[in-house]
Amino acid sequence: MSGRHDKEKGVNVQVLLRCRPFSDDELRSNAPQVVTCNDYQREVAVSQNIAGKHIDRIFTFDKGWFCWVIYAVVVVFGPSAQQRDLYEQAVVPIVNEVLEGFNCTIFAYGQTGTGKTYTMEGECKRSKSGPNGELPPEAGVIPRAVKQIFDTLESQNAEYSVKVTFLELYNEEITDLLAPEEISRVTLEEKQKKQLPLMEDGKGGVLVRGLEEEIVASASEIFTLLERGSAKRRTAETFLNKQSSRSHSLFSITIHIKEATPEGEELIKCGKLNLVDLAGSENISRSGAREGRAREAGEINKSLLTLGRVINALVEHLGHIPYRDSKLTRLLRDSLGGRTKTCIIATVSPAVHCLEETLSTLDYAHRAK
Ligand code: ADP
Ligand code: MG
Repeated sequence: MSGRHDKEKGVNVQVLLRCRPFSDDELRSNAPQVVTCNDYQREVAVSQNIAGKHIDRIFTFDKGWFCWVIYAVVVVFGPSAQQRDLYEQAVVPIVNEVLEGFNCTIFAYGQTGTGKTYTMEGECKRSKSGPNGELPPEAGVIPRAVKQIFDTLESQNAEYSVKVTFLELYNEEITDLLAPEEISRVTLEEKQKKQLPLMEDGKGGVLVRGLEEEIVASASEIFTLLERGSAKRRTAETFLNKQSSRSHSLFSITIHIKEATPEGEELIKCGKLNLVDLAGSENISRSGAREGRAREAGEINKSLLTLGRVINALVEHLGHIPYRDSKLTRLLRDSLGGRTKTCIIATVSPAVHCLEETLSTLDYAHRAK
């Protein structure tokens, strides 16, 4: 599946819309279903009762809907779509590109509570592979991508190396989710001391000084690291006041594959996959509205808004791509645009007010460009 402007413009951005099922609480309170997805028609219908009148609105998620990405293919996954469906339809081709030596990025974008982390990580504790290496049905994009990568590498007769990094970006500050430290007693001050600087590497790229790069030999090693990092993110959350809804996490897998050409020359293919769980999109639409949080909201807007502008500039083929305007886009510079694939998974809840939130958030990002 590829962006429809591939051939004309070399842009390859794909947007998926995923609507989560009702939660147990929503079911218990008999919340009416206001969002209905038609996965095949790429349509989402919203039914509302306004002033006693029943109104149906149909959103066709096609060209022009998602303000960040104007010419992308949009695919809808309704509440019954399984992790595996989404992965096989949308992510398998991206991971294949990475194994061919390209850099690709997958984002989860949406309001807090709509399933970004579920989509990216899945039910983390149970994501460990079973005795035969099979994953549980709840495993998200990250464990599935890891498995696909190692299954492919192990089936090939080539030398390879795989390394991963896992970082969190909060207030435009980077912390390492893999750093070996006593996580249970991290205070805000200690955490701030642990911020890592982002620097130019002199070769047109960037590097995060002090970031732990773990070399891994098997999928199960990555699962252990992923659990460690996610646990650290969750622990920090309880200490730092629900930080995770305002932070981005970036899990990157870099693969080097050594191959011999028919002429006997050595060829190294290097591909990178970035998996990004973005800050809640409500932080865009409500920023500035809450006093005392201006800086915080402003900084989050910086990475989320800049990302929107960068993607927009890439899709519209503008000359200037404002990568330098935020840390997130600086970090992802070598993986957005050019010969890369980008996939944005926009998550919504079936509740109508949440959908409106998502749409208004996207509008805001569009207006701000
Ligand atoms: P976010 O990261 O966007 O804040 P979460 O991933 O934490 O949202 O999801 C909120 C809750 O909804 C979690 O309990 C999660 O398990 C559940 N959930 C989200 N998406 C799905 C889905 N597609 N199927 C089943 N449960 C889901
Ligand atoms: Mg989350």
